[in-house]
Amino acid sequence: MKILVAVKRVVDYAVKIRVKPDKTGVDTQNVKMSMNPFCEIALEEALRIKEAGFAKEVVAVSIGPSQCVDTLRTGLAMGADRAIHVEASSSFLPLSIAKILKSLADVENPGLIFLGKQAIDDDCNQTGQMVAALLGWPQATFASKVVLDKDKKFATVDREVDGGLETLSIDLPAVITTDLRLNQPRYATLPNIMKAKSKPIKKMTLEDLKVDIKSDIEIVEVTEPPKRKSGVIVSSVDELIDKLKNEAHVV
Ligand code: AMP
Repeated sequence: MKILVAVKRVVDYAVKIRVKPDKTGVDTQNVKMSMNPFCEIALEEALRIKEAGFAKEVVAVSIGPSQCVDTLRTGLAMGADRAIHVEASSSFLPLSIAKILKSLADVENPGLIFLGKQAIDDDCNQTGQMVAALLGWPQATFASKVVLDKDKKFATVDREVDGGLETLSIDLPAVITTDLRLNQPRYATLPNIMKAKSKPIKKMTLEDLKVDIKSDIEIVEVTEPPKRKSGVIVSSVDELIDKLKNEAHVV
C-alpha cells in the first residue's frame, strides 16, 4: 500500500504575522516558513504505519511556489520515500488544492491519504473533507489514533469531538486528517538530512494533472484584528459595578 501525505508550507508558528500594507494578504517576505505542524503529524503517522509493515511507500506532496521544495526536503529527511511538487500559486484556496490532490490520487492510487486537520495560515479545515468528497472515499477527520486491520481493508480511527472521542471504522482507500494528540513528530537526524538530498522530488504542473482551477471565491481584504484597548484600575467596587452596568452593557 502507498500513503500520500499532503504537506503545506506555511509561515512558522512562532512568527508574528504582519499584514501587507496594501491589505492583499499576509507578508511572507523574509519570514521564516516551515511545514504546517498538523502536516508534520500526518507525515509522522504515515511513517509509523510504514515502519509497522502496513505500507510500502510514503509520498509527500506539496502544492505551491518553488520554495515548497524546502518543505518537501524536510519531509524526505523525516523519512518519506519520494516527493511530488505541484508548481502553483501560493494563494490557492482549499477547493483548488483538493482538486489537485484528487487528480494526484487518480495517478498515484494510494491506499490512504493523510492531511493535517488544518493549515495554521488560513485555518480553513476544509481540504481533507473536500478531497474525500471529490474522490468519493470515506473520511475520518481530527484523528487522535489510527489502527489498520492486518489485511489493510479498513482503519479504525479515534476522532476528537466536542464531547470526547468518537471511534469510526472506515474502509480503505480513505482520507484521514490528523489532530494534535495523534503523535509527536520526529526530528530529522543529520544523516537523514544528507540522505534526503538524493531522494527524488518530481515536479508537476496543473496541465500535467489536467486540473482547471477556477476559484469562485475572491479575497477582498486582509486586515489586522483591532488593537485591544488598555484597561483601567478602578478605585472601588461601586465604581466597578457602575462601569460594568454603563460601559460593559451588563444588566
Ligand atoms: P486547510 O483546509 O487549508 O486548513 O488545510 C488542511 C490540510 O490540507 C493541510 O494540513 C495540508 O495537509 C493540506 N493542504 C492544504 N494546502 C496545501 C498545499 N498547498 N499543499 C499541500 N497540502 C496542502
